[in-house]
Amino acid sequence: MEEKHKALEYIEMYEKQVFDLKQLLEISKSLNSTLDYMILIDSILYTIMGQMKVLKAALYAKKGIDSTAFSLHRNYKGFELEHHVDYTLDESLPAMKLFSREYKCYTFDEIREALGDLGGLDKLVPLEPTLIVPLKTKGVINGIIILGDQIMNQDFDDYEKEYLLNIATLAAIAINNAFLFEMTTTDMMTKLRMKHYFYTALIEKMEYSSLADKPLCVVMMDIDHFKLFNDTYGHSCGDVVLKQVAKLIQVSTRPTDIAARYGGEEFCVLLPDTTEEGGLLIAERIRMNVEKTVNEYEGQQLRVTISLGLAKFDPERDHSAKSVIDRADKALYQSKQTGRNRVTVSP
Ligand code: GH3
Ligand code: MG
Ligand code: MG
Repeated sequence: MEEKHKALEYIEMYEKQVFDLKQLLEISKSLNSTLDYMILIDSILYTIMGQMKVLKAALYAKKGIDSTAFSLHRNYKGFELEHHVDYTLDESLPAMKLFSREYKCYTFDEIREALGDLGGLDKLVPLEPTLIVPLKTKGVINGIIILGDQIMNQDFDDYEKEYLLNIATLAAIAINNAFLFEMTTTDMMTKLRMKHYFYTALIEKMEYSSLADKPLCVVMMDIDHFKLFNDTYGHSCGDVVLKQVAKLIQVSTRPTDIAARYGGEEFCVLLPDTTEEGGLLIAERIRMNVEKTVNEYEGQQLRVTISLGLAKFDPERDHSAKSVIDRADKALYQSKQTGRNRVTVSP
């Protein structure tokens, strides 16, 4: 009788492990199916909350390619954050070194035990995290997840902690991939996307636009008399102007629009779900924002203008991405011909 009971217990335990492994496979598939940073972070947080039955979870990650600190950005669910508090954690903190040295999940008590204090994580105290799960890939900590209480209010047991570390490892790899993808598709100087990313996105959006019957616009832009800035004030002045224009394009568009540096001093924006009228409004907004912004360079005040061309994707006429871009480019050329600092819509 006793033995039969034991055997049943074993079977139950193995069944649970098989189930959990299957879950891990699903999580791996899901986390590897996107290279989009924001979607990925959301997916990691919801996965962990669901699997661990916690109501609060947050993910610290590096904001940019050159950043040396981890920030929360908008990556938190359930935690009440004070908006005036800076929650950033530097990568050089003793706690981060500990995570890298001894990779496991930590409670505050365990960090104190190892370091004598919180190793620089004091900013986390008001959030009252129950568990801190570092993300590590290729020997480097590339993020941390903090968790609130479990719904049942019991402590995380060793099995759960090991399971969490497995998810964390998958998450760390996925984050690293998304990071690398962003790095190789982003222009370092302007922080806008590169041409090949724009092209790929345009092809994708054109397909969707045809299928879903949604409008789609492309805007091409070129800085007016840009050579003058280089020739008069030097190349580094030209670079300052380029960065400033790129920033203005970025802030004048929605997060769902894709702004890219198409070439030297040429930019483009992809406007999904946008009619010709809507596109014209956005193009005009970019033009005006550039025109009214004064650029400071070594005490000099510089005025910059840009010329723009807008084309609305027409599935009947545009059988390739090149076709829409060419039409927007022709419209841009028209703007140059008719006096610059203006928007022309492709017929
Ligand atoms: P237009 O109004 O007709 O567009 O005149 P423009 O002077 O802007 O046109 P043009 O195409 O003759 O000049 C573009 C210049 O942009 C030439 C090139 O030296 C410069 N350029 C391209 N990329 C960069 C860059 O990364 N940095 C700097 N400083 N200059 C660049
Ligand atoms: Mg040019
Ligand atoms: Mg130019």
